[in-house]
Amino acid sequence: MVHHVPGHWAARGPAAEALACDGRRWTWRRLAERADRSRGALRALGVRRGDRVAHLGRNDPVCLETFLAAAGAGAATVVLNRRLAPAELAYAVGDSAPVVLLADSGSAETARRALAELPAPPRLVVTGGADDAYEPLLARADPLPPLDDIAPDDTCLVLYTSGTTGFPKGAELTHRGLLSGAAALRAAAPIGPGDRNLVPLPLFHVGGIGYALYGMAAGAATHLLRDPAPEALCRAVGDGATHTLLVPAMLPGVLRAGTAPADAFGRLRHLLYGASPMPLPLLREALDRFPAFRFVQVYGMTELSGAVTALDPAVHRDPAQARRLASAGRPLPGVEARVADPATGAAVPLGRTGELWVRTAQRMKGYLGRPEATAETVTEDGWLRTGDVVRADEDGFLYVEDRLKDLIISGGENVYSAEVERVLAEHPAVAEAAVIGVPDEVWGESVLAVVVARDGARVEEAGLDAFCRGHLAGYKCPRGVALVTRLPRNATGKVDKNALRAAHGARER
Ligand code: AMP
Ligand code: MG
Ligand code: MG
Repeated sequence: MVHHVPGHWAARGPAAEALACDGRRWTWRRLAERADRSRGALRALGVRRGDRVAHLGRNDPVCLETFLAAAGAGAATVVLNRRLAPAELAYAVGDSAPVVLLADSGSAETARRALAELPAPPRLVVTGGADDAYEPLLARADPLPPLDDIAPDDTCLVLYTSGTTGFPKGAELTHRGLLSGAAALRAAAPIGPGDRNLVPLPLFHVGGIGYALYGMAAGAATHLLRDPAPEALCRAVGDGATHTLLVPAMLPGVLRAGTAPADAFGRLRHLLYGASPMPLPLLREALDRFPAFRFVQVYGMTELSGAVTALDPAVHRDPAQARRLASAGRPLPGVEARVADPATGAAVPLGRTGELWVRTAQRMKGYLGRPEATAETVTEDGWLRTGDVVRADEDGFLYVEDRLKDLIISGGENVYSAEVERVLAEHPAVAEAAVIGVPDEVWGESVLAVVVARDGARVEEAGLDAFCRGHLAGYKCPRGVALVTRLPRNATGKVDKNALRAAHGARER
């Protein structure tokens, strides 16, 4: 169970570092003790088995400590996105109905505004800063050890899906799911005591909290980054990190940061990346720049407690497998994957595209309070429909081509955005690109390329068109190009295609 992690490592290396953040350091003994006190404090606040506790704020040890405390009390933690507007936050808090909302000082005002919109708001406890109400509670609390009858399939974490499609839904993740995911990822990127895992992604995303648990469960030290700006990220990597997980959108900053010579990253060994498609020119540049790093691409999702496939370091460095740099790799141990016809669930012939279906112990229990949405996503025999269009090669490597909802149908032909985006990214004047379908009288939909030019470069529509025609069938080539200075992205660097569609006259999906 997740709440056994600090006690387990405190018994083996009480003085070893468990958590670090902003110059503060917690040993395993301190984390285990604080988690027990925190459990006592939550109990005093009225938290009981089956309840929920919400957290809002920047990455901070308090979030992990209260997560471990709540889990051992049979309660689940809802980690909320601190970038939500008050109305969105009110929705998620109303939907998950926590007993307590812990908000750090930077998010306290947003939290107050959100709670003012709710008929029965949770109790607000501010953590950190001048108004800290949490440390006094902890100081007064009696330590409470974990309950001894918590089941592996109990929910211990609720994460709202990033909401790039549809209404946000809370995925109920379990002890078994999270610990299976952590163990599976260790097969692709081993980690253990003596290692130091840097967590730059927000804890409200599975790439934050799930990834933190991957290192913690194995006894590594976890370094939480409060602010993942490129300079801070590079400094934190230089501060002894052996492992980290980045999203592709963070990589250009790392490559360009003046303070980031490769030798300042002395201990880094495993560089994991994922959560959205990786532009190939960027990946090649990073591979060249950091020849000693083991690059691991991961593909995963909230509903699967994190990563379910990985592209191994060796494949990244093997010139004979260069085409596989575009692949998200193969299923992790314990993960069954099927490229399915979304209508029937039958496996499609090898090499054809289909929807990725996954069956694994990592799967969420369901969407909190939404049995219909759960039934639409999880089949009766336990397969999770990912909503992603993929293709498999002869050795089982999976290529993510698009999200089903983003698929463009032009003149009856399917156009997969990732394929077009990969070609656009190879053009020397293009820094980054996203494609969407826009209404077209003749073709139903046509491909629009939304492009950010490289610094100092000019993107000429005719030149880009000629380039695309050299690499893509005519119906896949963009019929229009919109130049922008930046792409709209969510907190984990995914391009917000609904925002792009809205800006270019296409309907939301
Ligand atoms: P989320 O909804 O925030 O849990 O993100 C999950 C989605 O991110 C997946 O369904 C994919 O669309 C996308 N994704 C995750 N990893 C990768 C990857 N390695 N390559 C491409 N897309 C990815
Ligand atoms: Mg999703
Ligand atoms: Mg999502």
